[in-house]
Amino acid sequence: MKRFILLMVLLIALTLPLMPVAVPAQNFGLEEGDDIGFVMPGDAQAAEAVAVPAAGSALVLIAPARIGIGQPFLVRLTSDQPLDSVSIHWQGKEVVPSISVWNNRHVMLAMLGTDVLNAKPGKQELSVIASIDGKENTFRRTVQLFPVKYPRQELTLPKNMVTPPAETYERIGAERVLTTKAKNTVTPQRNWRLPLLRPVEGKITSLYGLQRILNGKPKNPHRGQDLRSPMGNPVKATADGVVILVGDHYYAGNSVYIDHGNGVVSMYFHLSKPIVKVGDKVQRGQAIGLSGMSGRATGPHLHFSVSVLGQLVDPEPLLKMTVDEMLQ
Ligand SMILES: [Zn+2]
Repeated sequence: MKRFILLMVLLIALTLPLMPVAVPAQNFGLEEGDDIGFVMPGDAQAAEAVAVPAAGSALVLIAPARIGIGQPFLVRLTSDQPLDSVSIHWQGKEVVPSISVWNNRHVMLAMLGTDVLNAKPGKQELSVIASIDGKENTFRRTVQLFPVKYPRQELTLPKNMVTPPAETYERIGAERVLTTKAKNTVTPQRNWRLPLLRPVEGKITSLYGLQRILNGKPKNPHRGQDLRSPMGNPVKATADGVVILVGDHYYAGNSVYIDHGNGVVSMYFHLSKPIVKVGDKVQRGQAIGLSGMSGRATGPHLHFSVSVLGQLVDPEPLLKMTVDEMLQ
């Protein structure tokens, strides 16, 4: 009898992780029928236990129904048939992400987001067009953008630190052309994986989204995070990629921009010295420069930003979460 009970307990314990987990549909903007036959890559064993319905093919899109302004998010499309190509349309931009094969399923994963500088609360259209065997399947979703309460900081600084002198306008304008182009880089091969690597170990001293009021005037919100980093400390690439811009800019000082593919670009500011050049292929964790206080910085630190299709998003969720966690 004891043995039987033990066996039953063991059996239940073994079966529990195989049970399909109910996922609250409203969090993803899933519509009825969307999750038929879909299994998250994390549930490898469960995949065998779930019967795929015979009718039609399983083509499943996961996208959020609501997202905070400034927050990055993921979109994942899974198909049991080969995907010829997938294109995603978001805020007037298009990205054609890489497609990978996982456990006999064809998976497209894309990162999207909005920028705390210019995104407004309200509805945004997201469309995903998947081409399978020459036939187009279109998903249209509405994503509700909601405001996020970012911290505020009021500072009083000497006037010349707040307003750049007139003779620098031309330089600032020319640099903006280069940095805007770099931030909007979209290349076909996805080289990023999550979580991203924190480029230095120091603690965060200024968060993304911080609303700065300088001498009573609201300035642009902080569109990256500041990390404590002593002078000369190596700064590491957050993911594999290619260096697309290295420069000494008025605000950002010595800067490095790395393209990670599919519209994701990382940026490292105020370096004392960049140690890579444009065109270099870098690996996740490779030192790309030494931290410092070049440009408009009051002390040595690293300013780290992530651009997604030209929108600067909050890097923190990307540094903390796996793909499955971000899709929950
Ligand atoms: Zn900063």
